[in-house]
Amino acid sequence: MTHHPGTPSAPRVEGVLFDLDDTLLDLRTAQLAAFTATVRRQWPQAPDVGSRRFDDAAHHFAADVAGHYQRYVAGETDFTGQRLARARDALTQLGAPEALAVPRPELWTDAYEAEVRSHWALFEDVAPTLEALRRRGVAVGIITNNVEAYQRGKADTIGLTDVRVLVGSDTAGAPKPDPAPFLEACRRLDLAPAQVACVGDSLTHDVRGAAAAGLVPVWLRRGLPDAGRPVWEPEAAAWQVAGLGALTAWWDADLASREEMG
Ligand SMILES: [Mg+2]
Repeated sequence: MTHHPGTPSAPRVEGVLFDLDDTLLDLRTAQLAAFTATVRRQWPQAPDVGSRRFDDAAHHFAADVAGHYQRYVAGETDFTGQRLARARDALTQLGAPEALAVPRPELWTDAYEAEVRSHWALFEDVAPTLEALRRRGVAVGIITNNVEAYQRGKADTIGLTDVRVLVGSDTAGAPKPDPAPFLEACRRLDLAPAQVACVGDSLTHDVRGAAAAGLVPVWLRRGLPDAGRPVWEPEAAAWQVAGLGALTAWWDADLASREEMG
């Protein structure tokens, strides 16, 4: 293995904190399914799934391009407010006639919620990775930018009942990238920040936030070629993985080097 100058050696990590949405839970897929069903209920003549117009609007909605969800996280609007604002943007973008571009609250709150919940699922690499980390004695937890009680319920529903440390933005007092939730999660794991890696899909919230709080930042970029181990990415100043399975390479490398030393 080539060791480039400036590449830090594999950190000695005793705990891993994961972001929840789009890191452990495939929220994007669930949102797309719920969005598709809800758009049809609101406006049966909407453009077809797979058309450029539909896909652009769906992406805009799920990725929160206009920042409505971030305003909710910052306490500037309520949960329903951000959902309806995103729905209105999407319906307008889809070309809905004016009367139909006003989201019907009952469709976009309770019915949407039931639809998205029915599609909540973990990414395939989550259960094997958590099991592998546990076998290696690594502590795990979750830090997530939403109300802790809601996210706890979500985590339990999808099979994460064993992950007992879960910090939400409300209980930590501030959302990521503020250091507060990172430090609160480390406190609950009973580890120092430098002993904890933080894995997430958001460069701004998870990766930069973790680095600023003194944790080992890991940027999850699903879809990139899988190197099978975390790779240092100098531009992001973070470790990068294409899937969660690559994380265990740190402990295996550690074990191999200890065995070598005999
Ligand atoms: Mg995320």
